[in-house]
Amino acid sequence: MQNTGLNIAKFGGTSVANHASMLNCAKIVLANPKTKVVVVSASAGVTNFLVELAHRPMTQQQIEQTIEQIEAIELAIFKALGEPQDVGEKLQELLQSLKEMAFHEELLHRPDLQDALLSLGERMSSLLFAEVIVQLGGAAQNFDVRKVLRTDSTFGQGTPQLEQIRELSAQLLAPELADNIVVTQGFVGADSDGNTTTLGRGGSDFTAALLAEALDAATCEIWTDVIGVYTTDPRITDKARPLPELSFEEAAEMATFGAKVLHPATMEPALRQDIKVFVGSSKEPEKGGTWIVRDCEVEPAYRAITRRKEQVMVTVKTPEMMYAQGFLERVFAIIAKHKLSVDLVTTSEISVSFTLDNPPNSVAERLNRETVDELKEICEVSVEHGFDLVTVVGNNMHSEKGVSSRIFAAVANYNLRMICFGANPHNMSFLVNEADSTEVVRDLHKQLFENN
Ligand code: ASP
Ligand code: MG
Repeated sequence: MQNTGLNIAKFGGTSVANHASMLNCAKIVLANPKTKVVVVSASAGVTNFLVELAHRPMTQQQIEQTIEQIEAIELAIFKALGEPQDVGEKLQELLQSLKEMAFHEELLHRPDLQDALLSLGERMSSLLFAEVIVQLGGAAQNFDVRKVLRTDSTFGQGTPQLEQIRELSAQLLAPELADNIVVTQGFVGADSDGNTTTLGRGGSDFTAALLAEALDAATCEIWTDVIGVYTTDPRITDKARPLPELSFEEAAEMATFGAKVLHPATMEPALRQDIKVFVGSSKEPEKGGTWIVRDCEVEPAYRAITRRKEQVMVTVKTPEMMYAQGFLERVFAIIAKHKLSVDLVTTSEISVSFTLDNPPNSVAERLNRETVDELKEICEVSVEHGFDLVTVVGNNMHSEKGVSSRIFAAVANYNLRMICFGANPHNMSFLVNEADSTEVVRDLHKQLFENN
């Protein structure tokens, strides 16, 4: 398919946190005539409040207070807009659903209701953001993404149905772009029965990339609160510097291994359709950002260092392993069944250790529990917590001489629980105690990025 020159712009939660921030974003949208689709996150903080309502048992009073905090964020924006009536009516409807769902007796046990509740953050922010563009003189329309963003029925972590998204977008979304800028919701989808689903936390980037793919867009901009992707998280070291350019592979590795700027699945659609992805700051668009492209001018051995927290190490052990074939197969069949992705694996004569991502209250955490229970039926299982995964992302890490020795020199003084070359030449990872991980990243950064 031909690229149409279309640009999709996605604005994260901090970029649409309040009216002033939304104004910056609206200007970015209007400055580029190719931007016809805008994807927004919920205003900063709102999804966290919604997650609390959906997952934590609360008293009546706590529920009311949480609703009030959400309401305060939305109403402040509405007020700054001058309280236009049509927007007011729609906002009241959404706030009304919020109250009904938040007090629903089965909410804590019904993933479908939880997703319907979680979708409200994006539905409110997109309604308000469309009005911000209109008030600046743009022709903008709020569009319900559930009409096109088809997923399976895995609530909390819907899997996008690519062919249907493409067809539905061609039918229902593309025609709207002729005279309008469409403002729609990130993170939200619907299954084939029309139930609301979500794509998992941080899923708005993924939405933007999926729509870019479905509409054959040329570019997809991810506007956030940092001026691009850095060599490492600037909160870990002030020596971190922004990267002007990254390859799809490098960006995908970085996202997978914990770089917070992009949702890990975002690069898949971009890769498939060769869509250039830009990451920049909506507060300082003039500072530029990072372009993520298929081929970079330079592909250095070391590009960045990432960290992923809350890792658990699972060790499975059985004397049978010495003799029996097929043990590993059974272990990994259980892992696959629960849709877990394993990053690091080491094996010994009678045991296998692997790591699992384990953010609290996540779908992954629940699946991990179920997986461990099932593993216990076939072997001894031990689960250790308190690890972080530190990853060096780069190029040709397997083949270039001296690449790993510089890395090892930097981490020589730490207790490394697991060390792994990735299955591709783009990463090398270490499992370290969480108390050490900040220092490990700083030392690696110094060795790999500050000496030359
Ligand atoms: N609002 C959702 C979240 O906070 C999705 C997103 O922001 O990308 O996880
Ligand atoms: Mg976000």
